[in-house]
Amino acid sequence: MAPHVLDGAALDALRSGFAGEVVVPGDPSYDETRTLFNAMIDRRPSLIALCETVDDVAAAIRFGRDRGLEIAVRGGGHSVAGMSLTDGGVVVDLRRMHAVVVDPRARTARVGGGATMSHLDRATQPYELATTGGRVSTTGVGGFALGGGSGWLERKFGPACDSLVEAELVTADGTLVRAAENEDPELFWALHGGGGNFGVATSLTLRLHPLPAFTMALLLWPAEAGPEVLRTYRTLLASAPDEVGGAMLFLTGPPEEFVPEHLVGALACAVLVTYAGTEAGAREVLEPLLALGPEGRLVMELPYADLQSMLDDPPGYRNYWSAEYLDHFPDEAVDRFCARARDMVVPSPSQQVLFPAGGAVARAPADYPIPWRRSPWVVHPFGLWADPADDRRARQWAHDIRDDMRQWSSGAVYLNFIGDEGSGRVVAGLGAHNLGRLARVKTAYDPDNVFRLNHNIEPG
Ligand code: FAD
Repeated sequence: MAPHVLDGAALDALRSGFAGEVVVPGDPSYDETRTLFNAMIDRRPSLIALCETVDDVAAAIRFGRDRGLEIAVRGGGHSVAGMSLTDGGVVVDLRRMHAVVVDPRARTARVGGGATMSHLDRATQPYELATTGGRVSTTGVGGFALGGGSGWLERKFGPACDSLVEAELVTADGTLVRAAENEDPELFWALHGGGGNFGVATSLTLRLHPLPAFTMALLLWPAEAGPEVLRTYRTLLASAPDEVGGAMLFLTGPPEEFVPEHLVGALACAVLVTYAGTEAGAREVLEPLLALGPEGRLVMELPYADLQSMLDDPPGYRNYWSAEYLDHFPDEAVDRFCARARDMVVPSPSQQVLFPAGGAVARAPADYPIPWRRSPWVVHPFGLWADPADDRRARQWAHDIRDDMRQWSSGAVYLNFIGDEGSGRVVAGLGAHNLGRLARVKTAYDPDNVFRLNHNIEPG
């Protein structure tokens, strides 16, 4: 849809009280400002409101509503389906609201609604404090945490939403509300997985946890070793302490010093072990994997914030991802998972990932609307490729993995790991038993479904 040409006087009025910047089609920065992580998304909003204050957010929402324009909310811009960009509507862009204030005594961080993981992790690292974050530095904390939040530290500290202490939101009518355990507890509960359905979070306060030492190990083998490596990894995770996080994955061997030449640019099998502790502790855990003779290996103690930006996926690629949450991961699933890696686009930044859950992920502090937390294994085909000629193949690969795994599926899914896969998957993401309660909160805060560019909960 072509963007609307907005009335000049109305634009002037919006700009006059606006602390941030208002970008419209034709402005020099328009195209750069509307670019998302997924290069397949090309939409042309009528207005992008680069907000700097809570009042800016309220003004942008009102501007869109008064004109009947669709409203998108943008944080880190990582939504694979492009839910943070609208054709013809208004984008409430939060990127300039990225301040992070750490209170080391209270062990909390107050995070601006548009901050990325990098803003958060860099602010907490000097205090040797951390909270569960996304696995790359460029993901928006808002979209990540409100959807649940899965990361390397989750087996130790739980999904990110378990550490949510408070949120401030601008709602559909432009008012600012505060949600915490003892202040609007229903809204607070709904923000643990319900995403951007209830308003624009201008700040989130997250609980921080001591993390004095952190270790990572990246071990690589040729792809053929996959079934043996994965069986060993599965056994290791069955009795691993909560300090152990990470993933088993297939990827294109990266051009790094620790990677032997024959694996560079080739399909490789890898295990990434993260350990919330010292290298000595990590090495004990790693023993069974090291015994398999990885052909590339990197084991190092490092600040957690450094790891968080070490594995950043590059922007500008075409994206398609999906996920299946599994109750069991028997030998047949292992073999099918490994065989399917042959269909991945290689070389490319794509990854065919298996995440372990369990630990604190499975130990719910409350019955939040994230039913996927009970599933011990997560299969996550994460496709990033450059050539449009590979579009069909990359999508098919992701669909085939889901089909292959479906018989072991728990039926639940984490909505931040999928794109727009229809209303049935939204139910799977939030839990059918939670829908009525979520819809009541939605009705209270967004009865007209102004915030519908998301994994949508309908009012009523
Ligand atoms: P955006 O595209 O800006 O926003 C997506 C949606 O989130 C918006 O439509 C809106 O509904 C909502 N939203 C964002 N900010 C706010 C706010 N302040 N207030 C209200 N609503 C808001 N997820 C994980 O859990 N763990 C990972 O390790 C992980 N790794 C990823 C790596 C990459 C490279 C990418 C691209 C994504 C990854 N994700 C991961 C998925 C990510 O969590 C989701 O895509 C999430 O929605 C991104 O949030 P964002 O703010 O960056 O996205």
